[in-house]
Amino acid sequence: MQKHTEAAVLVHTAPDGKIAGRANISAYFMKIEVIEVNPFAENTCIAYDETGECVIIDPGCYTAAERERLRRFIHENGLKPVRLLNTHCHLDHVFADRFVHDTWGLGLEIHPLEQPLLERFPLVCQMYGVPFDALPPAPAAFLQPGSHITFGNTTLHILFTPGHSPGSVSFWCEEAGIVVTGDALFYESIGRTDLPGGNHAQLLDSIRRELFSLPDATVVYPGHGPVTTIRHEKEYNPFL
Ligand SMILES: [Zn+2]
Ligand SMILES: [Zn+2]
Repeated sequence: MQKHTEAAVLVHTAPDGKIAGRANISAYFMKIEVIEVNPFAENTCIAYDETGECVIIDPGCYTAAERERLRRFIHENGLKPVRLLNTHCHLDHVFADRFVHDTWGLGLEIHPLEQPLLERFPLVCQMYGVPFDALPPAPAAFLQPGSHITFGNTTLHILFTPGHSPGSVSFWCEEAGIVVTGDALFYESIGRTDLPGGNHAQLLDSIRRELFSLPDATVVYPGHGPVTTIRHEKEYNPFL
């Protein structure tokens, strides 16, 4: 696998052959790697930039093989996970929170209104008939909509996009023109609102107010299904 091909790096070699210094002349980039996992076909997202730091968003890896795919992508690309974020806490988005917490020593960050969902995880697994091998960790910090989080050279704005669940958030990188929407907005669809705490009118309002106010060219990484853009959804999404 190629590593950071966008990052042109000048290596100054001293007369004795030792590397004397490096000057990164590349432009900034932030990219998302999507790994589709678990019986719900959930998109686990790894957001990384040219510094090699990354954040893991909604790690839903269910099987040992899926967790190994996540670990291998990070290892082979020389990435350093620095934050563990959840857009929301439905079971399909939290299966590997424990794995990420234990493997890279990261505290889970969620919106406070998602904590009750996190605590219902064992019950919901039982309801769906999905056995689990580890409980997700308790949240270490709460995400504050309107504020932002950082990693590497990247800033992610926290957008409050409830409706699919009470405390759903989206993560928007203005510089990269990318938004991770969890289950709020999908390619030509929206999240279901018939689960506990769901609210259809609130979801439509979230999308119109928070997501459709982003630049049209913004690339949308949803919690399920293909990548899309704000422009495409404004034009073709039948729910909006
Ligand atoms: Zn969900
Ligand atoms: Zn989901």
